[in-house]
Amino acid sequence: MCGIAGVFGTDLAPQLVYLQIYSLQHRGQESVGISSWDGKDLRTVKKGGRVLEAISREDLESLKGFSAIAHVRYSTSGDSGHVNAQPLERETPLGPTAVVHNGNIVNFLPLREELSKKGINFHYSSDTELFLALLEEEKVFLPEGLNLHPKDKEILPKIFYVLNRLKGAFSFLMIVGDKLIAGRDPLGFRPLCMGRKRDAILFASESCAFDIVEAQFWREVRPGEVIVVDESGIRSYFPFQSERHAKCIFELVYFARPDSYIFGDWVYTVRKKFGIELAKEDDVQADVVIPVPDSGVVPALGYAQERGIPFEMGLIRNHYVGRSFIEPTQELRNLRVLMKLSPNRSVLKGKKIVVIDDSLVRGTTSKRIVNMLRRAGAKEIHMRIASPPVVGPCYYGIDTPTREELIANRMTLEEIAEFIGVDSLKYLSLEGLRRAVKESGNFCDACFSNNYPIPVDTGALKRNRP
Ligand code: SF4
Repeated sequence: MCGIAGVFGTDLAPQLVYLQIYSLQHRGQESVGISSWDGKDLRTVKKGGRVLEAISREDLESLKGFSAIAHVRYSTSGDSGHVNAQPLERETPLGPTAVVHNGNIVNFLPLREELSKKGINFHYSSDTELFLALLEEEKVFLPEGLNLHPKDKEILPKIFYVLNRLKGAFSFLMIVGDKLIAGRDPLGFRPLCMGRKRDAILFASESCAFDIVEAQFWREVRPGEVIVVDESGIRSYFPFQSERHAKCIFELVYFARPDSYIFGDWVYTVRKKFGIELAKEDDVQADVVIPVPDSGVVPALGYAQERGIPFEMGLIRNHYVGRSFIEPTQELRNLRVLMKLSPNRSVLKGKKIVVIDDSLVRGTTSKRIVNMLRRAGAKEIHMRIASPPVVGPCYYGIDTPTREELIANRMTLEEIAEFIGVDSLKYLSLEGLRRAVKESGNFCDACFSNNYPIPVDTGALKRNRP
């Protein structure tokens, strides 16, 4: 769970990338970093915390150049402290190199062990360092029949070698000397989009990061694609192809911003369809539909419109608090729920309500919300979840709890309803979830289906978690 952004071709690159990463703040709030390249020096600023508070005017003024990459981080691999904040940079055989990465490399530990034995040093505990460490092997990989532009012949086979060794989810951006390189793993787990602003080329995890700098969304980087941008132009290569893709459906359920375009569709449109499908599978009688803000709002609109039940804001969110789901400890999560939401009694008192949330993971947040709604006078509470029960952890870059912590693995539907204190509980079916997306066969829905697209050594991953 991270956000990445990159800009090439304007002296405002560091400033634009700073704004872009601000609009991706929802993808990670632990740390932020920016690297810039001016043709001579690679400069990097990395701090713990959120973009606006962490990066000072002086920091931004110290970054210069026509090329920049940036990152907001929530750790899924390695230490959660900001020591692992990205971009990671080092002097590699290709010259000064910096990298940002969104995803999770599932063969991180065996690869690190292998490289360490060869005397290649690791300075961080994050899987992202593999992008730099593997370059030190100075090995090449070039698929048969793939013709490279003369400007790419020196560097790209070495980058392809690195990518060919990595297994898992990776959308990445690299500054390699005068080039900006972007790419997505062959299954395309994490999103990565491309935009234009006059002569500059921009990249970002989500298209909302182009709106904030008045750039135009151009297209998505395709799964398995590697794009090189330099002063000679833009070149696209497909060194790795996969018959099918595994785009993360949880991005559409929860993570991505509703105003973004990713995975070939608007997040808003798909999220609303989750609510419509949920409504089609439900017949409970109620006076009002209320969302758990913010991520329950869009599916609740779809549900309310489909069922013809009034939509009301029964919970009001304090916008000065971060998202509870992505805080690292349970204690902080609990506190944040109470700080974040308050009941709107004018809507709730004496009413039969349908409450829509995007997902139900541990159940502790829902329990607190239901308690709050009861105290505010709701007569009946019917909880509806716009995704199926979460039954498996994610190994591809989203920080979900362990299998044992997931409430759907510990309790029956009736037991969960009793635990959170609702009159009834219903989830969107897996079929309904799949109906809402285009080409559902090209999505990963493993946390709902246990159908993992890449086999994982879970023992090795556990040892790597903070
Ligand atoms: S397991 Fe779930 S969260 Fe992870 S990539 Fe697949 S759909 Fe996304």
